[in-house]
Amino acid sequence: MALSKELQNFAIEELKTLARIPSISFPGFDHSEIDRSAEATAVLLRKSGFQNVELLRIDGCFPYIVGDWFVDKKFPTLLLYAHHDVQPPGREELWKSPPFEPVIRDGRLYGRGTADDKAGILVHAAAAKHYVNLSAWPPVNLKIIIEGEEEVGSSHLFSFLKQNRERLEADVIVVTDTGNIKSGIPSLTTSLRGLVTVEIEIKSLKAPLHSGMWGGAVVDPAAVLIKMISKLTDDNGKILLKSIGRIPKAKKFRVPITKKEFASMAGVLKLNSVPDDFVSKTWYEPSLSVNAIQASSEKLANNIICDRAYARIGIRLTARENANRVHKELVRKLKAMTPSSVEIKITESEAADAWSTDPYSKRNRWAFEAAEAALEKGFGQKVVYMGCGASIPFIGPFENALSAPVITFGVEDPLTLAHSENESLFISDFYKVIDSEIEFFNAIGTQKK
Ligand SMILES: [Zn+2]
Repeated sequence: MALSKELQNFAIEELKTLARIPSISFPGFDHSEIDRSAEATAVLLRKSGFQNVELLRIDGCFPYIVGDWFVDKKFPTLLLYAHHDVQPPGREELWKSPPFEPVIRDGRLYGRGTADDKAGILVHAAAAKHYVNLSAWPPVNLKIIIEGEEEVGSSHLFSFLKQNRERLEADVIVVTDTGNIKSGIPSLTTSLRGLVTVEIEIKSLKAPLHSGMWGGAVVDPAAVLIKMISKLTDDNGKILLKSIGRIPKAKKFRVPITKKEFASMAGVLKLNSVPDDFVSKTWYEPSLSVNAIQASSEKLANNIICDRAYARIGIRLTARENANRVHKELVRKLKAMTPSSVEIKITESEAADAWSTDPYSKRNRWAFEAAEAALEKGFGQKVVYMGCGASIPFIGPFENALSAPVITFGVEDPLTLAHSENESLFISDFYKVIDSEIEFFNAIGTQKK
């Protein structure tokens, strides 16, 4: 079944409406925009057939939007998840069109949040709207939850889950915040990496100094911070923390993507920088990135000694690590190697465990079979099972609390550039995912609970 033109227009126009709202959850941005996007999402869900739609807050957390569409208790209940907060736009000058004015170029919708994850919201909304357009009921019961703090680590998740457990109870969880391995190839994600981040500030002076007048006699905080960061990994990039598990021999994967394609999609400049086991490296091994580093700037580069240096470090984790343990050891190690001649402050950190699931287990199999069939109908292509190097802190705790299978329908592809400048959504895949979710409702609806 292909989507009706009416439903396609609905999906793309409503997506543009949401993507025009700069709902950035990071500190330092105007958070009233998150309230605005929560309100707009609530309006959209009501239009799409959901009932009891409301904004939920817990102790100062950005609003969740929840709703449901109860049909009949003999049907299975699905819990649909996406998030409405977005990453900051990054370097605005690199955007080919303004980040919060979504436009279509070459079959892709460009703009911050067009893919991650406002497209995810629209997949659920449009799949439900399909039944509204037909004046019909879906063959399943639906519950929906749209989060407002996913991009900043979902720190209120556990209290939210505790307070709203009953209203979230479901037989299957459907998440639309992942990607497909390649444009046009439907993929089901069975593992996600965890994440630990820290922000480090090193201070040694009240103000920057002339490097000629003072150099040699005062401590340079930028040099100190660089040395500290360099001690976190060895020359091969191996992370030097005891809480990081030993990396097992790389698994071989049959994936429909070559090293050259991978390099080209990533935009790497030197092909020799990509290892042969790039799949295993991104799906199943930990990695450390220096997300940001700042002392002075290129614009202000001058013969000075900076007063302060800053860095943000992020470590992606596998199921072998415990995020809290890694976080604790990282902070301890940074503090231990700080010379007594400077001040250190470590702030704004998050810790989320990795997640993985077995699609063939007794509990999960029925849902994965239905998902596979639905995606094959929606895309006209065989499904690829994949890992994913990114993190969605929501999934693990919800899977555990509800003891239900987690199905991921991805709206991203390798050209999406989520979190980077010129983020975009491949529109043809977007329609196919909506179609697949409708097929999934049909497939799962005929199953016995
Ligand atoms: Zn996301």
